[in-house]
Amino acid sequence: LSIIKVSNLSKIYGEGEVAVKALKEVSFEVDEGEFVAVMGPSGSGKSTLMNILGCLDTPTSGEYYLDGVNVSSMSEKELAKIRNLKVGFIFQTFNLLPRFSALRNVEQPMIYKGVPRQKRLKIARKALESVGLGDRLHHKPSELSGGQCQRVAIARSLVNDPQIILADEPTGNLDSKSEEDILEILNGLNEKGITIVMVTHDRVVASHAHRIVHFKDGEIIREDKTQNGINRE
Ligand code: ADP
Ligand code: ADP
Repeated sequence: LSIIKVSNLSKIYGEGEVAVKALKEVSFEVDEGEFVAVMGPSGSGKSTLMNILGCLDTPTSGEYYLDGVNVSSMSEKELAKIRNLKVGFIFQTFNLLPRFSALRNVEQPMIYKGVPRQKRLKIARKALESVGLGDRLHHKPSELSGGQCQRVAIARSLVNDPQIILADEPTGNLDSKSEEDILEILNGLNEKGITIVMVTHDRVVASHAHRIVHFKDGEIIREDKTQNGINRE
């Protein structure tokens, strides 16, 4: 079953002579429970694709079915709702609020949703414990290592119970030990059934996925199954 299905997806920025075709009739599917890596040189359309998959942006043309629902022509408001319901985001630079504790950062998406404080605290604490940070609840990002910050970001991405995690270079700023920790956590979440789409420049990082989709100039030029993907069949 495809949780993500895009067909003939195009994205054009600007108009006329300055128009940039960032995605050119891209078609691909991601199965529920799959872990897909997206690779490709800078400017090949990876971020544009992730923004559309995460319902942060809409395509110029083509269709995007998210869990069977055509979201390509939804309004801003409808997209926000779907996004909050289904998608968790992880970024290379963590995007944590620097003045807030780990706990408060993880609470943030629930504050936005109006979840009562006691329930928020309980869920946030549990999420932080699940990524091994039960003893760092009150530390601020500046008091945590890069790997720990990324674990806070993963905990934050989990509190709305997403079906999909979109990770943009999640290990790009980390040393190799932290990189391994983060990949292990992502693998664990994937084994629990969360679908993951991850952009990376690193072949070794990509090899943790089931499949690697290679982009160039706004098009998919190749797809490879990794050993993990072959073993999974
Ligand atoms: P990648 O993530 O692979 O580096 P992007 O999706 O960021 O690629 O960019 C694809 C192309 O679209 C590039 O040529 C880039 O300059 C262009 N682009 C991306 N975002 C915008 C934007 N907001 N406005 C205009 N052009 C953009
Ligand atoms: P703790 O270490 O107990 O998590 P925090 O300082 O992160 O403590 O937060 C305590 C409370 O104060 C939280 O409810 C949080 O919402 C609020 N708070 C913390 N920092 C700020 C701030 N800079 N602006 C507004 N409210 C804040």
